[in-house]
Amino acid sequence: MSASLTPMMQQYMQIKEQHKDALLFFRLGDFYEMFFDDAIIASRELEIALTGRDCGLKERAPMCGVPYHSVESYIARLIEKGYKVAICEQMEDPAEAKGLVERDVIRIITPGTLVESSMLDEKTNNYLLSIFYSSTGFGVAFVDVSTGEFVISEIKGENTRNKLLDELSRILPREIIINEELTAIPGIVDSMKHRFNAYITVYHDWAFDQHTSYMALLRHFNVHSLEGYGCQNMELGICAAGALLEYLTETQKNSLQHINEIKSYHQESYMILDSATRRNLELTETIRSKSKKGSLLWLLDKTNTAMGARLLRNWIQQPLIDASSINKRLDAVDEMFHDMILLDSLKEKLRDIYDLERLMSRISYGNANARDFISLKQSIEVLPDIKLLLSDAKSDILKEFHSNLDTLEDIYEIINKAIIDEPPVTIKEGNIIKNGYNSQLDKYREALTQGKTWIAKLEQKEREKTGIRTLKVGFNKVFGYYIDVTKSYYDLVPDYYIRKQTLANSERFIIPELKEVEDNILGAEEKSIKLEYQLFTEIRENISSQVNRIQHTALIISQLDALWALAKTAIDNNYVRPIIISDGSINILDGRHPVVEKTLLNGQFVPNDTHLNMSDERLVIITGPNMAGKSTYMRQVALIVLMAQIGSFVPAKKAEVSIVDRIFTRVGASDDLSLGQSTFMVEMSEVSNILHNATSNSLLILDEIGRGTSTFDGLSIAWSVVEHIADPEKLGAKTLFATHYHELTELEGKLPGVKNYRVAVKEKGDDIIFLRKIMQGGADRSFGIQVAKLAGLPAEVVDRAKVILQQLENEKGSNTEITEDIKINESSEQLTFFASQSHKIEEELKAVDIVNITPMEAMNILYGLVQKVRKKRS
Ligand code: ATP
Repeated sequence: MSASLTPMMQQYMQIKEQHKDALLFFRLGDFYEMFFDDAIIASRELEIALTGRDCGLKERAPMCGVPYHSVESYIARLIEKGYKVAICEQMEDPAEAKGLVERDVIRIITPGTLVESSMLDEKTNNYLLSIFYSSTGFGVAFVDVSTGEFVISEIKGENTRNKLLDELSRILPREIIINEELTAIPGIVDSMKHRFNAYITVYHDWAFDQHTSYMALLRHFNVHSLEGYGCQNMELGICAAGALLEYLTETQKNSLQHINEIKSYHQESYMILDSATRRNLELTETIRSKSKKGSLLWLLDKTNTAMGARLLRNWIQQPLIDASSINKRLDAVDEMFHDMILLDSLKEKLRDIYDLERLMSRISYGNANARDFISLKQSIEVLPDIKLLLSDAKSDILKEFHSNLDTLEDIYEIINKAIIDEPPVTIKEGNIIKNGYNSQLDKYREALTQGKTWIAKLEQKEREKTGIRTLKVGFNKVFGYYIDVTKSYYDLVPDYYIRKQTLANSERFIIPELKEVEDNILGAEEKSIKLEYQLFTEIRENISSQVNRIQHTALIISQLDALWALAKTAIDNNYVRPIIISDGSINILDGRHPVVEKTLLNGQFVPNDTHLNMSDERLVIITGPNMAGKSTYMRQVALIVLMAQIGSFVPAKKAEVSIVDRIFTRVGASDDLSLGQSTFMVEMSEVSNILHNATSNSLLILDEIGRGTSTFDGLSIAWSVVEHIADPEKLGAKTLFATHYHELTELEGKLPGVKNYRVAVKEKGDDIIFLRKIMQGGADRSFGIQVAKLAGLPAEVVDRAKVILQQLENEKGSNTEITEDIKINESSEQLTFFASQSHKIEEELKAVDIVNITPMEAMNILYGLVQKVRKKRS
């Protein structure tokens, strides 16, 4: 460090040295200033003026700054752009400081550690996630600092890399910390950055140490073992969690007492959905515009509170697989579904509840203001009514809510007694505490009022004495109280008035009498503001110590609200309660696609039945023209099953659903294209993932497998995939398989469990009418050209396509006598499979063992081939 730097700059440099990866916001009076490179970056990113400041060196230090009162919006913009911000405060009152004001970093704000409501989306959790990688798998831990949720899990077994990415696609962390070891897995860090747009930090290895981590968790959660949290043996998870705590301690330098419970889970305890499936089923955002509108979440999110909205989002991302838990949720939804009065009354109350989880975090953090307490009070005010509304509840969950809901009356009382109803935003300027709460404060206030009355009287008295009718007593920070006399009365100003300031139209004076009272008033004011702040902090600490109780209430309210939303959606959209069965079948009567039906006019959506089981209808092959509705139908089935497992009612007349352990979809193009893989490669990796990870209890939605390559290759792949899935020895999962390869319909009756369905259309001359009805049996044509015509392809191109199609079909017809027979697996049954002449010749040529045949044999083979080619040409 250069010795010539000014003392303040030396202080700056020392602090900056410890926070190299963050932009340092250095408090100087009413501003946060940035210097050197930080200033250059911040001025560019925030579009604020770059100035300079003498720093003792030859050149001025580049500098830019933002006012302290609007700092949040600037920080928000920097965080959004992927920076970390270290907040360096003045640790003592500059007026009282001897020499250089002491300064220190009080918090490092990172994307994953936000608590400020202005920087957060109220309906989405903001997760910071930690990954520990070792040869046995991944430990995962994540936290939402703004709500206090802290979760541990681990990923072991096969295919852990994909499972990790799937988990991340569910959790969608804003920020990730990883151990060094993880960076050794090729491409994984890029993949995480690209897919989740997360801020990634490689964190100290020592922070992931198992023993240190374990001890840190025991200390933080104040327990003797992690047994009670179900994660005592999650060695990898513990390493991840330990590092997470360390990172929080390092960056937050603050009370983390609202993070007071560990949730642990195993991925297998919920329905497993890979990232492609989440995307394809448009669970929380649409594929095209990435917007919430049009997603399942958009449809179901009728919640009244931000907490409910966040929980519902998590439910959708993590459907259940345990029948009794599903039925419990369904019972609660059912009860509200059938009790409109309960439903309406609950809404009235729920909508008055603020975000208790985030309020609590701010209170624990010590950055809640008095208005936050009023929000807390108003929220608590409705709790007794909610408890009362639930007093006749019949379903288990609602009954539990009724008996467990802590209505927090004592906390209400504390706030109600102390905090005025409409306090200001700032907590350091008084006007927060009610009269009667503290006798000392009352005394100061009395002195203040008396002083002010005295001043009013003085004003009156001076007016009469001097005859200056416009005489006024005013106040400003520089002169304190003064007497203001307008120009026209200057000659009436008495001698004992002491002139202080001359303005354009008036003069300002003081008199000794006024100054004496001023001392009393200002003294009382200052003291009362200090006392109010002290009282406020005491209340904040007091309530902060009740964090567990408030969080517990918040959890009940969020669950109640999420269930409320499911009931409301069910009523609004005419859904039915699904019946959870266990024979492996799925039977849906008049099922609808929940989102597509909303985009159509009432009654336009054509409902369809679904029958899948573990015997004769396990793999359904769906054929039908383009645009007929195959994808919609398949997604509808997946969504109905998924909704049922969330505990939601479903769009159908009747639905019996056997629980599935995973849903896989392979539909359309994927995001990963931008990662440098071809469409076909992505498609095949997704299929491969499905074949490796699906079980006989999974539900598979496969749309046009194989279309990304040549017809023969595509058909062959589709064919063998169907064989593999249909075989109960190999997979035997319930599957909907849409295809344009009509050849596959030949598999019905030949492979066990395969059934053909088609989407019906009506031909009308040259055009087709879509009936959107799923019928038994296979389709024989794709009507691609008719659909292309509907899409507005030039008539000339459409006509030419028809001619070409005709020719191709004729050719195919003439080839029928040379189609090759192939076998399905080991079964002796023969299936016809079309192959062109040239394809066959190619195959024959490949089979020739040139090294081991005689010249005569070679001649014969050549002769045979030539004959075949000639026959084709003739
Ligand atoms: P392609 O083979 O070209 O991918 P597809 O058969 O998968 O087509 P979808 O994308 O499912 O067709 O459906 C096309 C359109 O038809 C949808 O956008 C929707 O508007 C409408 N549609 C689908 N199913 C129904 C239905 N059951 N009732 C009414 N309209 C429907």
